[in-house]
Amino acid sequence: MVRAVLVPEPGKLVLAEKAVPIIRESTEVLVRVKAGGICGTDLHIFHGTSPVATYPRVIGHEFVGEVVARGRGVTRVREGDHVVVEPIFFCGKCYPCSIGRPNVCENLEVMGVHRDGGFQEYVVVPERNVYPFSKDISWEEAVLMEPFTIALQVADRGNIASSDTVFIIGAGPIGLCILAYLKYLGAQCGISDIIPKRLERAKNLGADFVVHSGEENLEREVLRHFPGGAHVVIDASGLPETFAQAVQLASRAGRVVVLGFHTAPSPIPQASITLRELTIVGSRLQAHKFPQVVALFEERKLQPGKLVSHVFSFERVHEAFALLEHYPEETCKVLLSF
Ligand code: MN
Repeated sequence: MVRAVLVPEPGKLVLAEKAVPIIRESTEVLVRVKAGGICGTDLHIFHGTSPVATYPRVIGHEFVGEVVARGRGVTRVREGDHVVVEPIFFCGKCYPCSIGRPNVCENLEVMGVHRDGGFQEYVVVPERNVYPFSKDISWEEAVLMEPFTIALQVADRGNIASSDTVFIIGAGPIGLCILAYLKYLGAQCGISDIIPKRLERAKNLGADFVVHSGEENLEREVLRHFPGGAHVVIDASGLPETFAQAVQLASRAGRVVVLGFHTAPSPIPQASITLRELTIVGSRLQAHKFPQVVALFEERKLQPGKLVSHVFSFERVHEAFALLEHYPEETCKVLLSF
């Protein structure tokens, strides 16, 4: 038997026992999970506020582990390899897939959301979903590879270049991953949050300026540093009002990148989009970003360790969830070790 972090229905979180997963296809690998990252998505699934999840569900879409067995047809990895798992499954036939955007496939399934995920001791996945990395990258650091793929997707969607000025609303784990990647690219970046400790982390990751949005006037601060507005504004906070703010803060010919899943409408006047000819885009999951992120980790270009605030053994998952829910000022990325 293996143990798994299961949400049987909204509001319940249990350590369940299940049969050891078995390789059924020649192209599958068995992975012994070593570490996983808890994401806002996992909290939403627990609370029943995910618009897409189904139950019962073994959660977890950010995870890494060691290959312990493989089907006969597997050629890219072997037993003993350390791998990160790309958690998305797509059909390859629909319109988005046909234009290279499988992350919004019409038949998309995400591990830990639509099918069982990585918060379990062993998991079977197709070989095409795993990417090996060298053993001098720690498990704790490697867990950040998946969140960093989200950052690369945002940079792509926002068409961000090193010469751009970028403002990020929200300094949670995703906002900070985006910041770390954009500073590596060389863009000028400001970032806001209502929690001062998160802004400390942002400074530590190289933010050019930070705005404490509970106390400072966001628009005035952004315009003071970026006259005319930011070339790119990223809403990594995901509230109806932050989306409206993001549009407000963008420069002429600017781009606004939205990551939220909120279903409530935001008041955004047409004139503010048309007069400045803004491009407003959504960014969901990632497409084809794992090889690039693994390479950046191998070259030590990012600072994943700075994003990890806590590590719990997976048996203590309830404590980890409680910490994330009640102490947002103390937490950044909270990991489970297996
Ligand atoms: Mn995530």
